[in-house]
Amino acid sequence: MNYRLPLVLAFLISFSGLWAQKDIVAQIEKEATENSQLEVLAHELVDVIGPRLVGTPQMAQAHQWAVATFNRWGIQANNEAWGTWRGWERGISHIDLVEPRVVSLHGRQLAWSPSTSAKGVVAQAIPFPLVQDSVAFADWLKQIKGKLVCISMPQPTGRPDYNWKEFATEESFELMKSQRDAANKAWNENLTRTGYDRRTINTALEQAGAAGLIQSQWSSAFGANKVFSANTKKIPVIDLSLEDYGMVYRMAENGDKPVLKIVAQSKELGKVPTFNTVATIPGTELPDEYVVLSAHFDSWDGGTGATDNGTGTITMMEAARILKKVYPNPKRTIIIGLWGSEEQGLNGSRAFVEDHPEVVNGLQVLFNQDNGTGRVVQISGQGFLHAYSYLGRWLAEVPQDVKKHIETTFPGTPGGGGSDYASFVAAGAPAFSLSSLNWSYFNYTWHTNLDTYDKIVFDDVRNNAILTAVLAYMASEDPEKTSREKADLGKDPRTGKERTWPTTRAPNRNGGE
Ligand SMILES: [Zn+2]
Repeated sequence: MNYRLPLVLAFLISFSGLWAQKDIVAQIEKEATENSQLEVLAHELVDVIGPRLVGTPQMAQAHQWAVATFNRWGIQANNEAWGTWRGWERGISHIDLVEPRVVSLHGRQLAWSPSTSAKGVVAQAIPFPLVQDSVAFADWLKQIKGKLVCISMPQPTGRPDYNWKEFATEESFELMKSQRDAANKAWNENLTRTGYDRRTINTALEQAGAAGLIQSQWSSAFGANKVFSANTKKIPVIDLSLEDYGMVYRMAENGDKPVLKIVAQSKELGKVPTFNTVATIPGTELPDEYVVLSAHFDSWDGGTGATDNGTGTITMMEAARILKKVYPNPKRTIIIGLWGSEEQGLNGSRAFVEDHPEVVNGLQVLFNQDNGTGRVVQISGQGFLHAYSYLGRWLAEVPQDVKKHIETTFPGTPGGGGSDYASFVAAGAPAFSLSSLNWSYFNYTWHTNLDTYDKIVFDDVRNNAILTAVLAYMASEDPEKTSREKADLGKDPRTGKERTWPTTRAPNRNGGE
C-alpha cells in the first residue's frame, strides 16, 4: 500500500502542474482580449512620436517612451548605447508647382536630405535626358545649373496591376505590361550610357550644379511611394507622388517649363548616440537562461513605421505586459529587445549579439516579428535540427484559434538576413521569425508613405501578442534547455552548392557618415 502513495502524489502534482499551465494560458488570452493596450501603445508610438529613423530625436524619444512604459508596468528597462549615427531631423516639406499654374504637390524630402532655406528653392524642373553616351551626358550636365532634375522614370500608369487585371481586356493589360517593360529597359540602358548608376547619379547631378533632385519611387500601389534617403551633400532631394511627378515630367518634356517651389527644411544634429531598449523580467530558477522577445524599433520615415515595425514592437511590449501580470516570476529570464537601426543592416541586434555573449550562450529561444500587421502564419525551424520538438511542444499549448493558420517548416534553413532574428541565428542561437500574413505589405506599407496607424489590423496583432506570450511562457517553463544542433542543410537547389550556416557580421557602430 505504501508504494502507491508516491504514484498518487506524482499524479496529483503533474495534474496540478498541467492545470496551472492551462490556467496561465487562459489568463494570457483573457488579459490580451479584455484589457488590450495595443491601440493605446500604437497611438502613442506611431501617431504622437511618429517615425523612428535612426539618428533622429524621434528615435531617441521612442526609446525613452519604451523605458517609461515598461517601468509603468513594473518591468525594469534601460536604453543601451551601442554606437553613433548622423543626427538629422525632418522639418517642413512644402512643394508647390508655381508655373505654368499653381498646384500644391504631394511630396516630401527624403531622409537625411540637405535643407533648403526657409524661403525655399524656386527653379525649373527638367527631364532626364536621353543620351547616346557618357560624352553626350557630360555635355548635357553643363546646362543643369540652377535646375531641378527629374531622376525617376515616369510611370505609364498609376493603376496597380490588380486594378488592370480586374477591368482591362486581357489584350490591353498585356500591351500595357509589355510597353512598361520596354520603357523600364530603355530607361536603365540610358542610365548606363551616362556612365553612372543609381548610386552615383545623384552626386554627378549635384556636382554639376543642380538646384535639387525630384524623384518618384512608386510602390506599384495606389498612393504608395517608397521613401528612402537622399544621397546628396548640399541639394535637397524630394519624392513626389506618382500623379504629381507624372504631370511635372510631362510638362518638362513638352516644353511647358514647370517651375517648382520647394521648401524642405531639416536640421543636421551632428553625431548622436544610438540605442537598443532592453527590458528584463528576471528568471527565478534559471536566471542565466533567456527567452527573448525581439522586434526592431526603428523605421524609415515616409510614413510613421506603423507596420514596419510598430506592430512587431507593440506585439512584444503587449506580450511582456501580459506576462508580467499573469506570470511575474518566470523560471527563465525574459528579455524584450527593441533594436535600433535594423533598417540600415540589423545594426542594433548585431551589436547586442556582440555585446551580450551571456545572453547568446544562455538563449533558450528568441521570437522576432517584423513583416507587417498580419496574423502569424509561418514559423520555420531555421535549420535547427530539433526545433520541431520544442517549438512543437510549445505550440501545442497555444489556443487553437490563435494557431490554426500557422504552417511550420522543419528543420527549415537558417535566415541570412531580413530581420533581427538572423543576427542570433548566425551566432548559432535558436532564434525564430513569427512570420505574418502579408496584407499587401510589400506594395502598400513596407517603407512607404502609407505605413500609418490606419493600416494596423488590431485583431491580428492581438492574436500575435497571445501567441508570443504563450510561446514565451512555455519556453520559459520547459524542463529542458533547447538544442542548438544544426541540421544538414543539403544543397541549395538554385546554385547546386552545399548550403553553409550564415556567419555573424559586425554592426555599423558609426553610421550615416
Ligand atoms: Zn522591418
